[in-house]
Amino acid sequence: MRVQYGSMEQRGYALVLGAGIIGLSTAWALQRRGWTVRVVDQATPPNPAGASVDHHRLIRHAYGAQQGYMRMVDDAYAAWDRVWADLGEAHYEETGVLALDEGGGAWLPASREAMRGHGLAMDELTPDQVAGRFPFFTGQGVAEAFFAPRGGVLLAEPIVAGLADHLARRGVEFIRATVTDVRERRLTLADGTALTADKVIVCAGPWAPRLLPGLKGRVTASRQIIVRLEAPAELAEAWARAPMLLDLAHEGGFYMVPPVRGTPIKVGDHSFSLTGDAEDDRNASSQEAETILALAARRIPGLDRYRRLGARACYYDVEPAEEFLAETVAPGTLVLSGFSGHGFKFGPVLGEAVANALGDTALMPYLPGWAAGRESAAPGLLRAD
Ligand SMILES: Cc1cc2nc3c(=O)[nH]c(=O)nc-3n(C[C@H](O)[C@H](O)[C@H](O)COP(=O)(O)OP(=O)(O)OC[C@H]3O[C@@H](n4cnc5c(N)ncnc54)[C@H](O)[C@@H]3O)c2cc1C
Repeated sequence: MRVQYGSMEQRGYALVLGAGIIGLSTAWALQRRGWTVRVVDQATPPNPAGASVDHHRLIRHAYGAQQGYMRMVDDAYAAWDRVWADLGEAHYEETGVLALDEGGGAWLPASREAMRGHGLAMDELTPDQVAGRFPFFTGQGVAEAFFAPRGGVLLAEPIVAGLADHLARRGVEFIRATVTDVRERRLTLADGTALTADKVIVCAGPWAPRLLPGLKGRVTASRQIIVRLEAPAELAEAWARAPMLLDLAHEGGFYMVPPVRGTPIKVGDHSFSLTGDAEDDRNASSQEAETILALAARRIPGLDRYRRLGARACYYDVEPAEEFLAETVAPGTLVLSGFSGHGFKFGPVLGEAVANALGDTALMPYLPGWAAGRESAAPGLLRAD
């Protein structure tokens, strides 16, 4: 069977593969600009196996030497504000950012210099000040630290669910099906149905290298483990004001998401395993969980008193330089991939840039360099509507 969707509206038809944050954000921006949009996903959003949920995702300016992404965070916040306006509520909690380094790492000094140059406020902290200000952490072993007030937690599940619901109410059609093939302006479904459109945008998260052989070697699915915790009752009040913690040294670093709005504490590491496949199960072994807990135990004294709420695996789609790919793979067919564990915060701003570039071919050449964090946005690329 072949289903042709012609250009019934001024802007034309767009088919989006994937209802994670990247696909939904792209659909959101296209719909706002007058496109007729269909979203195809093998699961109903929020897909618990996708990269865009569990409870939360972080947004922060601390980006090491990747200054393009640091600057992009300002545009990301502005795009999130437009999402909140459409959803009628802000699924965001500002917590501030505590960045730590145990010595010798390049990430913290690079973040600090870049953020200062960008005019962002921050307090440098001694190890004693870390423990004094945040009594659930130890300053032991800390060589350098800063606290930046801007930054916080995006509530991932309500965002994905809310965007899908909003889009459905705005006339975006959701098709539940597995895509087996991507060609010029065409997606083929598992039952043989071919869907065509003026533009096809592939946002397949960690499944992308399975679907598009051309990405193999450039984008790798990477199994990552997170552990959820609950603080002991006597520390609950202090934890309610906790910042996110970033210790992103390459060896032995970890990140911690604080327990905002009734969510658990979450710890994970940012060292890419570069193993596994998006179709693998999401159960974490006790050994995998213990590895993450051992990292967190160095910074959170008395970690054995924290209730373990569970551990799970998720999958990143890793690009070696951690740069996003926005690539035209065939005429009218764009792939968004390589989000390397840091794509969520940029979903809406990326969706807007993609929609603007799809609507104005003169902008398209500027999309890949900006998405990779290497170039400033060309005038018009980040137009709000
Ligand atoms: C544990 C964890 C923590 C993270 N923390 C942060 C953070 O703090 N800050 C941040 O900015 N980013 C973070 N990230 C990264 C961020 O969440 C991802 O980059 C982002 O969610 C990727 O979204 P996506 O839409 O590309 O992928 P997904 O959410 O995986 O969506 C892809 C969708 O495509 C569908 N699909 C795939 N193939 C097919 C097919 N063949 N047919 C039909 N449907 C298909 C899937 O079902 C899925 O729903 C984190 C990621 C993880 C896993």
